Amino acid sequence: MIYLDYAATAPVPQAVADAMYEVLAGQFGNPSSQYPLGLEMKKRVELWRRTVAEALGCEPKQLFFTSCGTEADNWAIRAALWQNRHLGRHVVTTAVEHSAVLESCKWLEREGYELTYLAPDQNGDIQAEQVLAAVRPDTALVSMMLVNNELGNLYPVRPVAQGLAEKNPRTLLHTDAVQGFGLFSVKRLGADLVTVSAHKIGGPKGIGALYAGPRVKSPKPLLAGGGQESGFRSGTEATAQIAGFAKAAELRMGRQMDIADHLAGLRTYAIQRLLEIPDLQILNGAAQASHILAVSLPGWPSQNIVNDLGGQGICISAGSACHQGKPSHVVAALRLPKRTASGVIRLSFGPETTREEIDDCAGALRRHHDQRMPML
Ligand code: PLP
Repeated sequence: MIYLDYAATAPVPQAVADAMYEVLAGQFGNPSSQYPLGLEMKKRVELWRRTVAEALGCEPKQLFFTSCGTEADNWAIRAALWQNRHLGRHVVTTAVEHSAVLESCKWLEREGYELTYLAPDQNGDIQAEQVLAAVRPDTALVSMMLVNNELGNLYPVRPVAQGLAEKNPRTLLHTDAVQGFGLFSVKRLGADLVTVSAHKIGGPKGIGALYAGPRVKSPKPLLAGGGQESGFRSGTEATAQIAGFAKAAELRMGRQMDIADHLAGLRTYAIQRLLEIPDLQILNGAAQASHILAVSLPGWPSQNIVNDLGGQGICISAGSACHQGKPSHVVAALRLPKRTASGVIRLSFGPETTREEIDDCAGALRRHHDQRMPML
């Protein structure tokens, strides 16, 4: 199998699986229990929190584990709006957010909030000035992702944070950084709330985290219950998942520079190989994360490409894995010609990806182009 869909989820390294197994099989204590088995587990959870916090550049007490990135996104939005409930009911976001943010925003609209959805340009870019121009005195929250999961575009979160300090210092800034783990330090980024998720960096699925910075007074809990996570996120800690998250973060940070170089090299190589395919277009933003590459074969429907390559053991995706079967709102927001939009596919890479795998994928795409008639 050739796996080129790291933006959907990443393979779990053996060391991560081992770290999880050790906890599952040997250390099943509940961190809230008051005897040594529980107390020991509590200590370990705090060590794992420290590891993930170090990878993100924040204090451990600013980091709360959640059941996934989706929960962290939902929580961040709710907590920000609660804190700023006296400021106003206006929210600025982008039309290309992950559905965890967009669906929360639609729900807010039904509750009477006013939403501004910023459209990207045809390259998928969004400018900081565009975001700041939309901010009003009653804007309670700006939620803007760091790396677009379908296109790989990097968005100007830091300039927005800096601009907000002047435009409306009380507006809180949330960023969904699920696709950007390892690319930033929260201190430098300047966002008040930051979402991450373990399974995009080789951790297990079903564990995420929310960073809440100093301007977030005390993030109003989404889940009521036993008061875990310093009282802010109830639910017995998912100890094995947290152990796996910490191990994945540790592995990633130990090799971050090498991985970044590897991914940048792969992206350049992939573009070069894919451009040998007639008609193929690269979708490129002004600033790109290296691990995501969106391209289009105009006229060749993306789902057919994904099925064809899937049959040959090559895993790529048509837009985001979260939108399977439905047209992607991200591609729609680019307002591309219909033929281009319908042919958009996403390749995404990780530390284990090789050039040979890219060669095989490019070969399969070339055959698809040559052997199938365009349908549009
Ligand atoms: N945000 C982005 C940008 C994502 O790519 C994803 C997952 O695809 C999520 C949020 C949701 O994360 P999780 O799968 O942990 O709920």
